[in-house]
Amino acid sequence: MNIILLGPPGAGKGTLSKKIIENLNAVQISTGDIFRYNIKNETPLGLKAKGYMDKGDLVPDEVTIDLLWDYFDKLENKEEGELIVLFDGFPRTLNQAKSLDDGMDQRNQKIDGVIYFDVDYDTLIKRTTGRRVCPNCGATYHVENHPPKVEGICDNCGTELIQRKDDKLETVKNRIDVYNEQTSVLIDYYTQKGILKSIDGTKSVDEIFDEFNNKLGELN
Ligand code: AMP
Repeated sequence: MNIILLGPPGAGKGTLSKKIIENLNAVQISTGDIFRYNIKNETPLGLKAKGYMDKGDLVPDEVTIDLLWDYFDKLENKEEGELIVLFDGFPRTLNQAKSLDDGMDQRNQKIDGVIYFDVDYDTLIKRTTGRRVCPNCGATYHVENHPPKVEGICDNCGTELIQRKDDKLETVKNRIDVYNEQTSVLIDYYTQKGILKSIDGTKSVDEIFDEFNNKLGELN
């Protein structure tokens, strides 16, 4: 099954993805994570993406769409129907959504459902600006909702936690504006296709996971 997780930055797409992967037969394609990995490793792709990401702008479609198919085509067992492929952070523009549909057609596949995270502005700001990540192992924390045992230090590997550059307040505000201007049109796009399911993204991750399972049942 191919499932898109759609929602603004800080909506909880990455957190839910982790929970789904722990509990179900699922894999995640997060274009944001792929860009961050490439920036860390100073690859040509990372160099292209960095300037856009640091400002909170979108990386151009031609770069992002090719990257998506590269990753998708390398996934194994996706034709068997049991594996859930989670698209986290893609598509983000109408052009990306249409390319995704065309590419799925060419592969005799389809997008089975879109889970839309409904979250208010203040919650998005609190979640993103309070997020801290481990630059070594990738673990994610939140200064209030999920603090590490020792302030500023990763529980898993003892590395000093950092704030993502694009989680600083001004950049987050821009990311939310970009979402409203370029991504939110996808709510209509998928509603018209009859495959969009909304969930209340302000609930706890366990409650959201239960809701996700219910919606998955409705899509099957
Ligand atoms: P995320 O971790 O999904 O919030 O993505 C972080 C940043 O990566 C975004 O603010 C964009 O700069 C870039 N990015 C991730 N996914 C996409 C996409 N589908 N299209 C364009 N840019 C993207």
